[in-house]
Amino acid sequence: MKLQLLPSSFDNGGAVSQRQHLSCLIIDDCVAFDAGSLAFSCSERHRSDVRDIFISHTHLDHIAGLPIFVDDLFSVLSEPIRVHATVEMIRVLERDIFNWSIYPKFSELENSVGRVIEYKLFEPESTFPIRHLTFQAFQVNHHEPSVGALVTDGEVSIGVTGDTAPTELIWDAFRNCESLQAVLVECAFPNELASLAEVSHHLTPLSLSLELEKFGRRDVPIYVMNIKPMYMDDVLDQLNDLRIPNLFTLKIGSDYEF
Ligand SMILES: [Zn+2]
Repeated sequence: MKLQLLPSSFDNGGAVSQRQHLSCLIIDDCVAFDAGSLAFSCSERHRSDVRDIFISHTHLDHIAGLPIFVDDLFSVLSEPIRVHATVEMIRVLERDIFNWSIYPKFSELENSVGRVIEYKLFEPESTFPIRHLTFQAFQVNHHEPSVGALVTDGEVSIGVTGDTAPTELIWDAFRNCESLQAVLVECAFPNELASLAEVSHHLTPLSLSLELEKFGRRDVPIYVMNIKPMYMDDVLDQLNDLRIPNLFTLKIGSDYEF
């Protein structure tokens, strides 16, 4: 399974920055896990092949690229962009984004072929296919209704927590998944901002270390993502201080094969 975390920003020389403002993972070049930076930094191949977007929750850093992606492709789509989301997420997208005030209500528009966006509902704790992949969604502990997921291609699986504070269910699923090759987990704030992490439902290196005890496996690499750029250096130092083997940061813009 191929995985890439799309860049959010670029440095003065135009190189990919490791500062992650937005969240968008591309799986096997054709399925997006969230759409934060989709449209802003995806490749031509992604523009032509990504037609399925799984939404973990509706915070702006996870959906900012969604309306722009649909807009960008509006006239060339030969099939709708399929947005996989819960009924609560779709309600928020239709009420707060695709409402004509913020952006066009694409669900009411068609190009010369037909619809340009199609909502595909899923329930938390359900299993469903997206292209050649199988997604199993799990409710996590974040502000909006939010899910993480186990994603499998039939041979290997990866676990993605999405944004979450300390949670339970998803760790049981990850621990029991025999084909699990990697876990991608958030760690937004440094330890000294634990109170901010608590009120905003995010993790710190310390609370992440407790989550990994719930996970309980040391044979699976853990990749940290969604570090708030402002605190990146402190979070990286504190992650390093944990001395946890198999703990890495997910390099933005790099291709991973699992
Ligand atoms: Zn969030």
